[in-house]
Amino acid sequence: MATAAAIEDQIRTIDPDEERAFMDAIDRWLEREVIPVVQHHDHGDIWPEKLVEQMAEMGLFGATIGQEYGGLGLPATTYAKIVMRISSYWMAITGIFNSHLIMAAAVERFGTPEQKMRWLPKFATGEIRGGLALTEPNAGTDLQAIRTVAKKNADGDYVINGTKTWISNALNGQCFAMLVKTDPDANPRYKGMSLFIADKHDGLTTGKKFDKLGYKAIDSAELIMEDYVVPADQLIGGVEGQGFFQATGGLELGRINVAARGVGLAEGSLRLATEYAQQRETMGKPIAQHQAIQLKLGEMVTKARAARLLTLDASEAYDKGERCDKEAGIAKYYASEAAVENSQEAMRIYGGYSYSKEYDIERYYRDSMLMCIGEGTNEMQRMIIAKQHLKENQI
Ligand SMILES: Cc1cc2nc3c(=O)[nH]c(=O)nc-3n(C[C@H](O)[C@H](O)[C@H](O)COP(=O)(O)OP(=O)(O)OC[C@H]3O[C@@H](n4cnc5c(N)ncnc54)[C@H](O)[C@@H]3O)c2cc1C
Repeated sequence: MATAAAIEDQIRTIDPDEERAFMDAIDRWLEREVIPVVQHHDHGDIWPEKLVEQMAEMGLFGATIGQEYGGLGLPATTYAKIVMRISSYWMAITGIFNSHLIMAAAVERFGTPEQKMRWLPKFATGEIRGGLALTEPNAGTDLQAIRTVAKKNADGDYVINGTKTWISNALNGQCFAMLVKTDPDANPRYKGMSLFIADKHDGLTTGKKFDKLGYKAIDSAELIMEDYVVPADQLIGGVEGQGFFQATGGLELGRINVAARGVGLAEGSLRLATEYAQQRETMGKPIAQHQAIQLKLGEMVTKARAARLLTLDASEAYDKGERCDKEAGIAKYYASEAAVENSQEAMRIYGGYSYSKEYDIERYYRDSMLMCIGEGTNEMQRMIIAKQHLKENQI
């Protein structure tokens, strides 16, 4: 249960003028720098180095990190709006700072004062970037089944052996919040799990890079640990056995973040379909005037709107320091399905041209399915929502 101090830390506000100015800056950046180069980076699966530098200049790598550590300290609501806006043009690029900020949140929420002072200022500027390393070849949903083990050596440091897979920013990042087993025989299993700040040096190498359906330009790859030594002062919080709780403790913000990406994809698909439907003519009139197309647009408008409101509902609860795991789960589930459905409907509205890479809509279609998988699959999401609902409505 969160302490009063932790809840105080979580409560953040922003002046509406300041938020508007920030959103305007994001819009200018999207228009001038991002939109002209999306296809180049997406089609070639090319890391967007220049855009990453610009994101660092705008402070995005410190967006949710506290101002006392050099971050922007934005409330979750403003952060969600930024993610929605960027994702409505190019979702994948948000993964470069999203995964990084989840790593930073683990240090900020659970790290020792020394860990916060040492790592957070460098995370905030983007001098050190990274992500979250939980998944293994045999364990995604069932995180307690991971096999990566950290053993203490004679110097009191930890020697880590194992393989992580599907890790966002694995190639281009320098540091990861890495979940391991410090006691593989613990029962229950979660009591033997610990989270480390794992920076790249001897013993930690990158393996296979995935050739993905979508979510291009951001790298997803394996991390391989072979007698990789991590100093004891990089065990987050300094106490073994807290890792499972620390890794899953950021799930509310993580789900709001994936929901916001889903909103962006749903709204972007709607924007493209709306433009196209008014330009393309059949039977002597724009297809937007055919009832069959209007039915699709009506559904899409409703889904995009509902997804946005659910996501803002969850982020507002988060900013007030309220428990919002159910709200964040509902937003993540609904917005990710809305992204998939709106991108599919937009594909149908584009007809044959949807299948050409000259148009952007095929990217929304390829990118959207990931939203149903990340931060807890939508199968798990519905089970979590139902369990919470049943707990609140026991007879
Ligand atoms: C592009 C991409 C980027 C990623 N980035 C990261 C990252 O940065 N860091 C990281 O750690 N991981 C990352 N992942 C991994 C991601 O978190 C996992 O893929 C996800 O958690 C699902 O795990 P899995 O793939 O092992 O599926 P599994 O756990 O094997 O699940 C397979 C299916 O079974 C269902 N299922 C599983 N258990 C149950 C159950 N108890 N009841 C009902 N249904 C169940 C699931 O819902 C799913 O439909 C990424 C994945 C992708 C594709």
